[in-house]
Amino acid sequence: MNRIILLGPPGAGKGTQAKLLSQELGIPHLSTGEMLRAAAAQGTELGRRAEAFMSQGKLVPDELVLGILRARLESSDTRRGFILDGYPRNVAQAESLVEITPIDHVLYFEIPEGVLVERLSQRRNCPTCGTVYNLVTQPPKVPGRCDRDGTPLVQRSDDTEEAVRTRLRVYREVTLPLLDQYRRQGRLRTVSASGSVDEVAARVRAALA
Ligand code: ADP
Ligand code: AMP
Repeated sequence: MNRIILLGPPGAGKGTQAKLLSQELGIPHLSTGEMLRAAAAQGTELGRRAEAFMSQGKLVPDELVLGILRARLESSDTRRGFILDGYPRNVAQAESLVEITPIDHVLYFEIPEGVLVERLSQRRNCPTCGTVYNLVTQPPKVPGRCDRDGTPLVQRSDDTEEAVRTRLRVYREVTLPLLDQYRRQGRLRTVSASGSVDEVAARVRAALA
């Protein structure tokens, strides 16, 4: 089974690789960040509560994220596997996950911090289909428009310098200990996330083989 977790700092390329892998393997890409952003865009109660944390680069409270993820995992399209991107992000979330579903692969995207800041500052997203661009490394064909649906691209409100700094600090403080836990269990496979999208994709395929 391909029940896959992608771990790694913000900007490592998890979303970019998850979308490619999702098409290739025919399993859904489950990004808790995208789920929360969709709820915020719809203006639901949960979305409004989440937005207050997200815009500052802080983690959304565990019970809100768990609720949204659990509901998503109940969909029938996850029966043949899924790619989890952005969850778990702390030890408590990993413990909750164990109770909901078994996991087959845990991949860790390793990358120097300097590259992350560069990638995040140039990131742009399609608010309609979620495709991720980068003004330097993955530019759209028509400037400012999504290649797939022509929607004007947006910059995420948490890709500002200040929120990025907070997100990297949160990652170091609460997500890194989680890596150690998976490593101790002998489950962590480390993939270098430096280099081109194609190079990283090849390493991901090798790690899953
Ligand atoms: P994450 O989901 O881990 O936060 P993303 O997939 O959104 O990361 O990628 C962050 C930024 O880096 C985006 O602008 C994306 O286009 C760009 N990017 C992703 N992978 C690579 C790569 N291998 N080389 C260069 N840029 C990349
Ligand atoms: P991402 O799209 O993965 O970069 O996530 C964007 C933001 O959504 C994060 O900075 C958090 O505020 C929130 N978020 C996403 N996933 C989680 C999670 N598993 N736990 C807590 N907050 C999350």
